[in-house]
Parts: sequence; C-alpha cells; structure tokens
Amino acid sequence: MTSGILRGSLFSLILTLALFAQNNWQTEFEKSGFVATSTYSQTDEYFSRLANVTNFAQYSTIGVSPQGRDIKLLVVSKDKAFTPAEAAKSGKPVLLIINGIHSGEIEGKDATMMFLREMLVDGKHTELLENVIFLIVPIFSVDGHERASSYNRINQDGPLNMGWRTTARNLNLNRDWTKADAPEMRSMLKMVSSWQPDFVLDNHTTNGADYQYTVTYGLERFGNMAPNIAKLVEKSFLPFLIENVESAGWLMSPYVGFKNDKVEQGLLEWASVPRFSNGYMASRNRICLLVETHMMKPYKERVFATKKVVETAAKYLVLSGKMVIEENRKADNNIKQYLGKDGKWLR
Ligand SMILES: [Zn+2]
Repeated sequence: MTSGILRGSLFSLILTLALFAQNNWQTEFEKSGFVATSTYSQTDEYFSRLANVTNFAQYSTIGVSPQGRDIKLLVVSKDKAFTPAEAAKSGKPVLLIINGIHSGEIEGKDATMMFLREMLVDGKHTELLENVIFLIVPIFSVDGHERASSYNRINQDGPLNMGWRTTARNLNLNRDWTKADAPEMRSMLKMVSSWQPDFVLDNHTTNGADYQYTVTYGLERFGNMAPNIAKLVEKSFLPFLIENVESAGWLMSPYVGFKNDKVEQGLLEWASVPRFSNGYMASRNRICLLVETHMMKPYKERVFATKKVVETAAKYLVLSGKMVIEENRKADNNIKQYLGKDGKWLR
C-alpha cells in the first residue's frame, strides 16, 4: 500500500516536471491562445535559450538597427558548420529563412520558434537537422517590430500586437535590396554575400484581397531567373510544395494582382525586380520563395500554415538539396561567359 502511494507520488512528480518542461518552452504565441506574438526581447531570449540547449546551433548578431537593436541570426547545423566555409565543405544545402522584413507580417517568427523547439528540444525533424543547414533571422526589421499596435494593419486578423511596415527611418526593407539605404539591409546583404545560401524563404502576409487560399506564393520562374533554375522551380519544387502544404489542409495559390485593379479583368503574375527579395535572389541565381499568407485568415491558421511551408521547403532540400546546389552552380558558371578576365561585365 505504502509503496503504491510512493509510486503514485513519483509518477505525479514526473508528470508535473514533464508538464513544467513543456510549458517552459511554450512561446508567447502559444501561451496567448494563438492570438499574440512575442516582443523583441522575448524573442531574443527564446532564441538564446534554443542556442544554449543544443550543440548544433550558434546565435550571433549580423548588424545593429538605427535605434540600436541587434539583428540576429541563428545558424543550425548538425555538423557544427557555423561558418560559410565550413558549410560549403559539408556539401549540405543552406536554407535562409527571413522573418519580419515587414514586421507587422510576423507569422514566420512564431512558426520558426515552434519548429526549432520541435527540432532542437523535442528531437523531432531529425532528417531535416541531419541534412540541412539553417540560417534563421528571427526578426529582420527590428525597430519596426517594436513600434507595435493592434491597429498597424487594420484589415489583418492578428496578432494583437503587430509591428510596423517600415523601419525607424521609414524605409521599406523589401524595396531596399538593391539601393541598400537602410543599415539593416546592408547587414543582411553582407551576411547573404558571405553565406551565399542555396535557397531562401521570405515570410510575409498579404495586403488586402479576399479569397479562399491561406498561403499564396511568389516564385521567380520567368525571364528574370536562370532557365535551369526556373525549370527546377516549375517541374520539381513547386509541385512538391503545393502537394505537401495542401495535403496538410492549407490551400495555396500564386500571389497575383488584378488587371487594372479589377478582378473581372483577370489575374496578373509578374517577374519581380531585384529591389524585392525574390527578384534580388533571382538575380543571384537563387530560388527565393516569397510566402504571403492571407491577412484575413486568423493569425493561428497563418502561423501554422507558414510552419508547414518552412518544413516542406526544408524537406525538399533533404530530398533534392544536391540537385539544387548543382543547378545553382551551373547557373553561376554560366554567368562567367559574360565576364572579362578582370571579372567585370563584357560590353
Ligand atoms: Zn510584406
């Protein structure tokens, strides 16, 4: 009888500790019932803890914003390949995930926090950890993120405390990839140039139109993308992405505009110019998946849909990473015919 009581107490103690450990890793998004998002300092603290709980991650600063906030980068690598040279030597694909370039559109941050916890704390997603090197920017537009209000994006269904579209100097970072006026962008470009990621995700939320799709996407596959990579997108990545995300319950569609702003006149797709992330990466011969979740869907749905996109892109790199690296290399080599011996463009 006594040992039965002891066993029972021990069991409930273990259960309590397990629940405590679980709660301890809950994000602000989860604690709030999926309606709020973490502040800059809560996010920073969470990423620091993630980096401290494993040997496979390194958390560093890639630049400082005009208001003095650090722009952070988490590198996750099973081989501890924490530098571009080590990553290149490993032969594994490098996936860059940018969250909060428009910081009111912040699903990617909450999605990657849960994804990373599952991978680094709970021991899930082992094949992704094994085969992919992750570069994750938790929040890119850090000052805009802290100019938080419930009214910053008035038609958007959450989070409760959403950030502002532009930086503290009123620059739109996703129009700044080529002119690089913002110090934040100059830090990003330096990091991208040194790491040369093989594949990029840029997480956003749409700005208005209503439709049934939870996730829309921008993917360069017209004349502004190297033909071999455009083919890879069209024939290989896009079908894989749509099949996996839709089978998880999230309808997908290309991110389109309306002809003359009138839906009855038809839909428009376009080639993105390099001032946008996807156009800029295309000019560097890299696929950048622009993720645009539908602003009128509840925040909870948008975060979990974004998480599925992140996991699917990483899974694609597990299965096809070697091919992606090879096609990237081919496209890079193809450029060389247009360069003179001095490395400058031939005229
Ligand atoms: Zn955006």
